[in-house]
Amino acid sequence: MIDRQTQLYGVIGYPLGHTLSPVLHNAAFQAVGLNAVYLAFETGDLRGALAGMRALGIRGLSVTIPHKTAVIPLLDEVDELAEKIGAVNTISNREGRLIGSNTDALGALKALHEKTELAGKRGLIVGAGGAARAIGFLLKEQGVRLTLANRSQEKGKALADFLDCPCVSLEEIGKVQPDLLVQTTPVGMFPRPDDCLLKPKDLKKGMVVMDVIYNPLETRLLRLARERGCIPISGLTMFMHQGAEQFRLWTGLEPPFSAMSQAVTAALK
Ligand code: NAP
Repeated sequence: MIDRQTQLYGVIGYPLGHTLSPVLHNAAFQAVGLNAVYLAFETGDLRGALAGMRALGIRGLSVTIPHKTAVIPLLDEVDELAEKIGAVNTISNREGRLIGSNTDALGALKALHEKTELAGKRGLIVGAGGAARAIGFLLKEQGVRLTLANRSQEKGKALADFLDCPCVSLEEIGKVQPDLLVQTTPVGMFPRPDDCLLKPKDLKKGMVVMDVIYNPLETRLLRLARERGCIPISGLTMFMHQGAEQFRLWTGLEPPFSAMSQAVTAALK
């Protein structure tokens, strides 16, 4: 029941396209009986969106492309991890103060930790955008020996410098032989699910292979990984964990993970 007490949350980005965040968070609010609703706000007007958040008392916003970096100077505070990563995907409104956090990196880390130890592993990150930066930062902190591969060498080198790791071209991926591979580009995402930057021979038995894409649920890369005897991790697991961390930040409650997961899986099917 929506009434005058209902708390408002949402996601801002442009374009928002296929976002599943409303499904995830509304399922969570319902499961714990919170009088709250989460909406999708497709907007390129970041400054206006934050003024609206303050004026209307919106309790929390997820932030997605292209606002994750540009939002930082508009906030009252940015937590330590988001500041180090240089990107915010979550804003919490605490009595009028807007505080930025980054749950993408934690989501990826939780998804990986479910399947593997990280310290001392050789890791390859494919891509050099915001997701690569967030995930690379935490993997480095966990003691993973990283290599980065990216299409544009200029962007790849800049991120590799930040992560203090080597950078190779996409053609050189086969030489890296990692224990752990994290695919962070949009290649393979709906509506082009047959695209894939990796070749079957790049994937060795036992390798952990995570794709940040969750639509389709099993990307071509993850199918190849499964067929080659690797340990595949879907972007959905990362998405679920980053959303669960947002819920925890906004409400202080334990996220109802299975209700969230069921709702998102049903929506994807
Ligand atoms: P971004 O900052 O725009 O970076 C995109 C990266 O992908 C760049 O390194 C770019 O390479 C590379 N790329 C794009 N198209 C390519 C192509 N055709 N061939 C080779 N490389 C290509 O994007 P982002 O914020 O990092 O997001 C990347 C993906 O992660 C998106 O699909 C997003 O939905 C997903 N994501 C998932 C979650 C989750 O919870 N599962 C969370 C966050 C993001 P260049 O440098 O050469 O342009």
